[in-house]
Amino acid sequence: MNIQTIIKLLTNAGIEENEAKIEVKMLLEHFCNYTEIDKCKGILPNHDQLDILNQKVKIRVKDRTPIQYIIGEAYFMGKWFKVTPDVLIPRDETELLVQAAISIIKENLLKNILDIGTGSGCIACTIANNTDAVVLGIDISSDALRVALDNVTRLGINNRAVFRKSDLFSNVRDNEKFDMIISNPPYIPTGTELAPEVMHEPALALFAEENGIEFYRKIAEKAPEYLNDSGWLIFELGAGESSYVKYFMEKEFKNINVEKDLAGIDRIIYGQLK
Ligand code: GLN
Repeated sequence: MNIQTIIKLLTNAGIEENEAKIEVKMLLEHFCNYTEIDKCKGILPNHDQLDILNQKVKIRVKDRTPIQYIIGEAYFMGKWFKVTPDVLIPRDETELLVQAAISIIKENLLKNILDIGTGSGCIACTIANNTDAVVLGIDISSDALRVALDNVTRLGINNRAVFRKSDLFSNVRDNEKFDMIISNPPYIPTGTELAPEVMHEPALALFAEENGIEFYRKIAEKAPEYLNDSGWLIFELGAGESSYVKYFMEKEFKNINVEKDLAGIDRIIYGQLK
């Protein structure tokens, strides 16, 4: 058994070769204490290291468990976040959302942010870690909130990002007001068939009724009650959903902007309370 045969196990299971190489590197670093530095020095993984790698690759191949759930971590905006199957794995697209939010927060000196459907807390933690704002992350799932709390501890920002169980606004008090509401809500239309890896992620975090736009509608309708004057609402968008979300927002929000991702898909939308 060598690295090449192990990479072959992954590619035979349908994982693209470059991705397979990245995953092998991640597994070696995470479980085998074998790093790129060893590789540069010309040291090969020993028998025991290859054995552990092989076991982990078998788990990966068996039912296409995402690599992030196997190592228990996902990389997001320069930091490693704890992830479990109770939370969505942070996506590259969400980095665009957080970057846009951070720019708006800094430019407008925003102080209080609400993150709806916080999941792993990747959005809440990254905003708290990069701005002077304080973030309240809410989620319907207690299991997700436990992961978010671990992430806040990891980053050492316990008093800057706080979490609460809430089904959308159900546990947000009427007198609590925010300068920005941010959300990457579930946006995949219920019933959509997905890649085997994605099926390991919590259905609660993925799927939405009304062809995927349920949560945008519900949040856009209620958000004005919880925003300060000229407060901001910012969403990550599912593919093809931009015009519907814009329509929901236009009633109460002005200066609506849509930004595209690298694939040219409308990915971020934001606006300010009229
Ligand atoms: N806010 C989390 C993220 O962006 C979870 C989002 C979700 O579960 N829909 O990764």
